[in-house]
Amino acid sequence: MKNPDAIIVGAGPAGLACAVTMRAAGLDVTVLEKADRVGSVWRRHYDRLHLHTDRNHSGLPGMAMPLIFPTYPSREQLVEYLESYAARFDIQPVFNTTVSRIRRDGTQWCVDADQGSISAPVVVVATGIADAPYRPSWPGLDAYRSAVVHSSEYRNPTPYVGKRVLVVGFGNSGGEIALDLANADVDVALAVRGPVQILPRDLLGFPILAWAILYRRLPARLVDFINAPILRLAVGSIEELGLRRAAKGPRQMVEEDGRVPLIDIGTLDKIRDGSIKICGGIDRLTPEGVAFADASAQKFDAIILATGFRPDLRQLMPDVEGVFDRHGMPLVTGQATNAPGLYFCGQITSPTGQLREIGLEAQRIADTARHYNVGLRAQRAAPA
Ligand SMILES: Cc1cc2nc3c(=O)[nH]c(=O)nc-3n(C[C@H](O)[C@H](O)[C@H](O)COP(=O)(O)OP(=O)(O)OC[C@H]3O[C@@H](n4cnc5c(N)ncnc54)[C@H](O)[C@@H]3O)c2cc1C
Repeated sequence: MKNPDAIIVGAGPAGLACAVTMRAAGLDVTVLEKADRVGSVWRRHYDRLHLHTDRNHSGLPGMAMPLIFPTYPSREQLVEYLESYAARFDIQPVFNTTVSRIRRDGTQWCVDADQGSISAPVVVVATGIADAPYRPSWPGLDAYRSAVVHSSEYRNPTPYVGKRVLVVGFGNSGGEIALDLANADVDVALAVRGPVQILPRDLLGFPILAWAILYRRLPARLVDFINAPILRLAVGSIEELGLRRAAKGPRQMVEEDGRVPLIDIGTLDKIRDGSIKICGGIDRLTPEGVAFADASAQKFDAIILATGFRPDLRQLMPDVEGVFDRHGMPLVTGQATNAPGLYFCGQITSPTGQLREIGLEAQRIADTARHYNVGLRAQRAAPA
């Protein structure tokens, strides 16, 4: 592999968006991808998944999503879009190439992959979160006799028909997987440990994301204060369903805790009609099921962990200091880091849509990386 101006690790939405913006900024980029096709993570998400963000706010730089797509495109349509995006801008990632380590070598970033190493003054880490499913541990987990799977392994209700299933977690995956199971008449319960926030997918005829974007420059507390009454009306009472509304509003929850509120696409109706039962936090597992924190116990034939992802990028960059928080997440994403020439794209949850944020970050990264590269070339050209 020849050494380019910039190496991008990952060919999901973030990697592809950066490839397009950086190339438009005059940089010669190489994209390394461990899978054999672009958008590999979206190819393996659960079958019924549709975007929760609308088509008009989910396209990547330089190419809107096709108008023939519905307002909330399906998983397959997003994959189709990513394929067309790569084809249109002639982005040809080096596939089947897993990056095992990124290290600094003078003014260069040296990227070690299974085919060898390449170097560039700029590297963009666009590896997403999908490789780090978070699996909480409870006393009794080893003794539990049935399957415990993470939401990233869930595809559809078929294996669960005729079973009692507990879905753990009230994020978007948990809510949608419980809905998927309930629609297939599976006996399903949701374990909800703490207070929650719920948003309708559309408000007053507009996608909820459009409202979030409209209010994006206002402080989180103010936005949540303004929206609280209308959201209460739109969502209705949740306390009678056994849920507790979080004291922090939805926007504060995303900004301060990185937790995304549930965007309701039918889960609440299924909770209201009893098709999805609500349980509290888990205390421990028993061989047949779960003992909850309120001392009740129930049998379950399967447990699905919709408990999110916790990537730790220090594993990829053990020698790089000053760019990660204590969990190994980047301190900043979509802008220059403390390490010259190193960028992350799409790593921090955004209240205004992750795909939209990825597009904005890709543009900023391209602008900053171009200046950085020009400066570096000028330094090299300058007489000693
Ligand atoms: C279930 C689910 C639903 C979502 N729905 C929405 C939504 O509706 N709207 C929205 O805006 N956002 C949504 N998101 C959030 C976000 O937009 C997506 O996760 C998006 O795919 C992130 O893009 P990415 O490129 O950062 O990561 P990914 O899509 O995960 O791509 C990362 C790529 O990097 C590759 N890679 C990883 N490690 C290496 C390595 N070491 N070497 C080489 N290659 C590597 C992977 O194979 C992968 O192809 C959703 C996320 C999930 C999990």
